Amino acid sequence: MKFSYQNDHLTPDPLEKKPTHPNRIANIENLSPLPLNPNYSPSTKLQNHLTGRALLLDEIPFPLTEIQTHYLNGYLYYSKGITNQGKLECLRCGNTDHYLFGKMPCSRCCQACYYCRNCIMMGRVSECSPLVRWSGPTPKHMTDSPLDWDGVLSQGQKTASEKVVEAVIKKWDVLVWAVCGAGKTEVLFQGLNEALSLGLRVCIATPRTDVVLELAPRLRKVFPVIKPAALYGGSEERHDYSQLTIATTHQLFRFNEAFDVMIVDEVDAFPFSYDSSLQWAVEKARKNDSSKVLLTATPNPKLQKECKTGKQNFVTIPARYHRKPLPIPTFQWGGDWKKTFNKGKIPYPIREWVTSRLTIQKQALIFFPDIKIMEKALPHFQTLHPEILSVHAEDPVRKEKVQKMRNNEIPILLTTTILERGVTIPNIDVAVIGADDETFTESALVQISGRVGRSSNFPKGNITFFHFGRSRAMMKALVHIDDMNKQAKKRGLIDE
Ligand SMILES: [Zn+2]
Ligand SMILES: [Zn+2]
Repeated sequence: MKFSYQNDHLTPDPLEKKPTHPNRIANIENLSPLPLNPNYSPSTKLQNHLTGRALLLDEIPFPLTEIQTHYLNGYLYYSKGITNQGKLECLRCGNTDHYLFGKMPCSRCCQACYYCRNCIMMGRVSECSPLVRWSGPTPKHMTDSPLDWDGVLSQGQKTASEKVVEAVIKKWDVLVWAVCGAGKTEVLFQGLNEALSLGLRVCIATPRTDVVLELAPRLRKVFPVIKPAALYGGSEERHDYSQLTIATTHQLFRFNEAFDVMIVDEVDAFPFSYDSSLQWAVEKARKNDSSKVLLTATPNPKLQKECKTGKQNFVTIPARYHRKPLPIPTFQWGGDWKKTFNKGKIPYPIREWVTSRLTIQKQALIFFPDIKIMEKALPHFQTLHPEILSVHAEDPVRKEKVQKMRNNEIPILLTTTILERGVTIPNIDVAVIGADDETFTESALVQISGRVGRSSNFPKGNITFFHFGRSRAMMKALVHIDDMNKQAKKRGLIDE
């Protein structure tokens, strides 16, 4: 699409009877909103749809004439999707890498047009696509104390919950460093309640769709009047306005200075930890004057260092909700496990470990550093028990297999790191094959160890790292877990 600029305002081509020198949005300079006409009454639906967002015209299900009328009355404005002044930049995802831009003969502007490849899965942003933003007043929402929950916080959760409330009120940033199984969602409830009572707009963002699917019903239950919106690739409520939004970090590309409180769960999870444009999206989606709450069990080395040097405001929950210490990993020599598996055998210590679990009928998860070795090893494990299965990211029946494990229908599940997070099986032991492989970072090993002993009925369990030489990450993971137990003991958060 192109715009004509006349009498101090823009007119999109399709609405202009006689376009005069139409231009692409990327080539137009004066793009500030027009003065707000207080006598105009804007559409509440459009206001709800656009507030705090930066959307392509295709993402706004309203007639272009209605959009244009709101523009002429100062309630929304057209902004660039891509700038091309010496250097290309995508203003939706922050991409500035030249090789992540494509160039095509464009049917919309009838000339060669750059577009962003980095965020193309959200619809194409090109030199001729405007991003539409709201410039009118924001919807007012205020619900006095919407939290409907009568659960009890553990002592560790309570301390963290108070920190979150403080961050919300004072517009601070805070990191909640909570061990696996501490119950970090409940830690947010009071802070959310405070924010929602103040009429603030809140987002809980997470890298993983699974987490959105798990959090949304829990939050709908405790904040029934708020009706939280859940946004992820393929979700139907993609454009619902709510005071509380739960979204994948990808969805944040569509937001702009929207949130007063930005909560990021599992900050260290893939792809967020590796993709700087997602981190950029978080910053773009929050207001300048806002608070940010980060949640994780395994902060990356940079965050850990910032905590230690006092640069990062943080609080730890070093103990689980059930007040038992975290199981400490055992290191066990597994010999040249790769070679042994390649020869079609199971390394002796691993075989012993598996057999003893089968004998006492205790379920186990066994982590492998890669699919190839795992698939090769599977038939040999099946000679020990025919119902041992394996699972990986591309497995079409992945969910069913995990469910079988939960139902105690299979004794042992072999897995890649895909199950390092989010899986809770009440009474299991865990082994890591080739714990010294570079796939297993400190964070991965701490998360994997965190699968053991989560349930208050079965707070203990065995976690064994089989290795062919100890790695630094293994040592760091061990120290990390041990340190949390020490802190918990010191603060009186565990019984023993
Ligand atoms: Zn982009
Ligand atoms: Zn174009």
